[in-house]
Amino acid sequence: MAKQDYYDILGVSKNSSKEDIKKAYKKLALKYHPDKNKGDKESEEKFKEIGEAYSVLSDDNKRSRYDQFGHEGLRGASGGGGFGGFDFGDAESIFEQFFGGAFGGGGRSRSGRPSRRKGSDLQIKIKLTLEEISKETVKKVKLKKYVSCSHCGGSGAKNPSSVTKCGTCNGSGEVKSVQRSIFGQFVNVTSCSACDGLGEIITEKCPNCSGEGRTRDDKTISIKIPPGVSEGQYITLSGEGNAGKRKGPAGDLIAIIVEEDHRYFHRDGEDIYYDLQLSVSQAALGTDLEVPVIGGKIKVKIPSGTQPGKKLLIKGKGLPVLHGYGTGDMIIRITVWIPKKLSKKSRELFEKIDTLEEIKPKATDKGFFEKVKDIFF
Ligand SMILES: [Zn+2]
Ligand SMILES: [Zn+2]
Repeated sequence: MAKQDYYDILGVSKNSSKEDIKKAYKKLALKYHPDKNKGDKESEEKFKEIGEAYSVLSDDNKRSRYDQFGHEGLRGASGGGGFGGFDFGDAESIFEQFFGGAFGGGGRSRSGRPSRRKGSDLQIKIKLTLEEISKETVKKVKLKKYVSCSHCGGSGAKNPSSVTKCGTCNGSGEVKSVQRSIFGQFVNVTSCSACDGLGEIITEKCPNCSGEGRTRDDKTISIKIPPGVSEGQYITLSGEGNAGKRKGPAGDLIAIIVEEDHRYFHRDGEDIYYDLQLSVSQAALGTDLEVPVIGGKIKVKIPSGTQPGKKLLIKGKGLPVLHGYGTGDMIIRITVWIPKKLSKKSRELFEKIDTLEEIKPKATDKGFFEKVKDIFF
């Protein structure tokens, strides 16, 4: 199912300020909060959507990634669930950042939802050649990361009976304490230290992971890279980072694009530059040549009298536009190679040619640099 645009969900435009996005979120989140719409599945779904849209658009990094790549940029290219991992609990915790637990008058109890800490994000670099960038590429990457323990399923316990409810917090993961002062009574809520906020105590630890619920392992991940990416851009694969401790959700894997230098080409945006050296006689006489393009070769006609500094435009032989339409061009820059040393034979030939008046620059001819200017500007 195609996902709705995050800007549309919040009813804001693409260039809205952070403040506008915040306002739009607040208004909608209050309207669709499940406490106000008891049992209404549609509102609950809508509330989650709003939270998800806000979590992306309020984060500069995620927003620019979303603007560039769309949902694809957030989902992670492997299609492994990724940003779909945003759940109701996440939506609720965003909401609580805004309104605290005081919503609905009586204070919303979070009991029964102990939070599990998320695993850390991982960063990797992906080297790509221009050939790989010119089309959709799948890269296999080997990495070491924390994965959920296969012995205990991530619980950290030796067996299911070795997990008991934490007595200190009665399973809620938080401890409340009441403070009195001249201003009145304050309820202080803190994470339970006895169970580290998990609401559970392990009596016998899993021997494989020593109770952590995760182990380090080698993993190979396939990353799908859209055509047209460039140096420094990155793809986030949600949930492909380190697994959290004891069933905590996994962090993200961030794959940063590194562009390898090319033997022939120089890249400028979607355009590709290629420097072609001609001999004096090739430039004067003209010739047909084969030149490399990305992924192959093409024939180009060099007209007679081609000047150094001339550029030839080969349409459509550049790189594809990222998530857009069209392709850049290839630009061939001509230089003329002058021999530094001459053999006896070539010296004689050059001397012979030099006797011809027609090959010498005329006083009326412009200088080289002026000529170059004429060609390009
Ligand atoms: Zn284990
Ligand atoms: Zn506890």
